[in-house]
Amino acid sequence: MGGAGGRGPGEGTRAGSGRMNGSMARRRSPAPRRIPPGHPVTLTIALSKGRILDETLPLLATAGIVPSEDPETSRKLILATSRPGVSLMIVRASDVPTYVQWGAADLGVAGKDVLLEHGGHGLYQPVDLGIARCRMSVATKRGYDWAGTVQRGARIRVATKYVEIAREHFAAKGMHVDLIKLYGSMELAPLSGLADAIVDLVSTGNTLKANDLVEVETIMPITARLVVNPAALKLEAVKPLVDALAAAAAQGAAA
Ligand code: AMP
Repeated sequence: MGGAGGRGPGEGTRAGSGRMNGSMARRRSPAPRRIPPGHPVTLTIALSKGRILDETLPLLATAGIVPSEDPETSRKLILATSRPGVSLMIVRASDVPTYVQWGAADLGVAGKDVLLEHGGHGLYQPVDLGIARCRMSVATKRGYDWAGTVQRGARIRVATKYVEIAREHFAAKGMHVDLIKLYGSMELAPLSGLADAIVDLVSTGNTLKANDLVEVETIMPITARLVVNPAALKLEAVKPLVDALAAAAAQGAAA
């Protein structure tokens, strides 16, 4: 287990046990960790495989943190690093905020998309790392009269994994939408007639193009953020780590 050792959001309460529930998790932050003087602190950083891992590893390397094994090929989910007292935890992208919120990881890297869907409760977001850059967009089948549909105020069906972001976007525009939650391959929804439009991440635009879809609205730019558990932020060892990652991100942005 990482530095937090499974601390729950309430004093002495483990995640998911007892009567502690999600709403309490939102109201109460984890108790500060009591570390005896001279006792080594272990910090755990939660990361997800794929683009976030690929783009975070160079930042970690600049900050002097190199995993002991290649996380992409290793089957281990907790990896030691070259920096004593810092380990990496490999979790699913959408689970990163949860591990950090509940104190099972001290820090994490998560996309703004994931954080908005999670709600960001119980998390500090001290650094925009400027990585995994893409945008959240609305797309339809080529030839679909999106502008006309919006103008007419017609009710539309939108398929997405990002229901919170989509709900907020269309509500702000005063549009009537039926949101259909999907977990992947959203491009299929307009092609199969399941939905009129999708809300999804777009990077190069190649996936949309390959499926004869076009981007009709950009909702927001997306980057990955460093997230920190509020209790972890009080640990002496955390500030230098946050500063080192902020400096590495700034260096990356300037390059
Ligand atoms: P692209 O073809 O480069 O526009 O990439 C679009 C596909 O990659 C879609 O399936 C997206 O859901 C996914 N994608 C793009 N950027 C990201 C990102 N930063 N994080 C996670 N998935 C992404």
